[in-house]
Amino acid sequence: MTQPSTLEKLAILADAAKYDASCASSGTTRRDSKGSKTGKGIGSTEGMGICHAYAPDGRCISLLKVLLTNHCIFDCHYCINRKSSNVRRARFSPQEVADLTMAFYRRNYIEGLFLSSGIIKSSSHTMEQLIESARILREEYEFRGYIHLKTIPEADPELVRRAGLFADRVSINVELPTVAGLTRLAPDKSAPRIAGAMDLMAGAIVEGRDARRRFRHAPRYAPAGQSTQMIVGADAASDAEIMTKSSGLYGAFGMRRVYYSAFSPIPDASAVLPLKRPPLMREHRLYQSDWLMRFYGYSLDDVHAAADPGGMLPLDIDPKLAFALKFRDRFPVDVNRAPRELLLRVPGLGVRAVNGIVSARRMRRLDLADLARLTQSLTKVRPFIIAADWRPVILADRADLRAIVAPRASEQLELFA
Ligand code: SF4
Repeated sequence: MTQPSTLEKLAILADAAKYDASCASSGTTRRDSKGSKTGKGIGSTEGMGICHAYAPDGRCISLLKVLLTNHCIFDCHYCINRKSSNVRRARFSPQEVADLTMAFYRRNYIEGLFLSSGIIKSSSHTMEQLIESARILREEYEFRGYIHLKTIPEADPELVRRAGLFADRVSINVELPTVAGLTRLAPDKSAPRIAGAMDLMAGAIVEGRDARRRFRHAPRYAPAGQSTQMIVGADAASDAEIMTKSSGLYGAFGMRRVYYSAFSPIPDASAVLPLKRPPLMREHRLYQSDWLMRFYGYSLDDVHAAADPGGMLPLDIDPKLAFALKFRDRFPVDVNRAPRELLLRVPGLGVRAVNGIVSARRMRRLDLADLARLTQSLTKVRPFIIAADWRPVILADRADLRAIVAPRASEQLELFA
């Protein structure tokens, strides 16, 4: 059989990588060229939003997103690259990955690399190959651009730790929200091993940061931290269970991001998988809830409260609005007096609008016209606030409130079709 050309391999391995959502490249710091052999170095991680996919927060970043190989000795049911899958296989050497990255970079196609892999021979062997690709880029080509390395939890812990020396961001996929789901759908993987690798990485990141504070020349260690990805809708886990898992991951391992990836049916799918993908809106609601916990001061209990008794978030309205409709006694909030944390709870007010309100009200009392300049949807905000010239009717008396403030479900769903 003839060997595929580099271009054919790229087509196979870039296509195989598209199922991984966890490649947004935010939050790194610049690698400067001090200490490089030539004093120059190539590439920069500044400017953050680099990709050739849309990240969940809407930014577009240009990364070469590719697998080292789509051969795999594991048999995760949800994965197109599993060993029992009938797909065309290909494999790059670390040198080829490095050369491709540089060729794309020099042509200005990309600003960084997202590299993952199926497992060949053994987890440690694969991890060595991933690290070698990044090492060649950093040490031989003096590449200073963004590198995101997927690490393999089953590999030798020393190798997992080494990945952070070359990568800006490292990630270890948690895969599924529950241990039962993981055991059923990824029988070769182990929840304790995944948690162990995340813990090790979290410790190494803290040590690396600490060393940089104390010693100016200490090497950078995964400056953009670690992230993970969870598949949504391949098992029976509810949104409440997914958010519980996320909250634990942020708390225990200092995750920079948890990515939610709606399960997408694959060719020759295993019989244990659902036939249909979950609505994309479900993925979006999970991201909104994640955002509420990280930037809006909502607790996990608050997010659970926004869900229905079965633990599912409503699809037709966002979780912040769902929470406000359930706890109407906490509104209206006076925009001229309320503390920032209460303003952040008002449906329709984002962080930027709240910052604008807090700074503008130092000068004068704000009325509806002022708010209209600061928010996008005064219709949504109005029932939940008091302004200088506005006081709504008691919310508990408004049986039609949901219909007034919620955009028509069909309009919202169209946006995500
Ligand atoms: S380890 Fe599982 S998820 Fe990863 S490539 Fe292999 S089959 Fe796919």
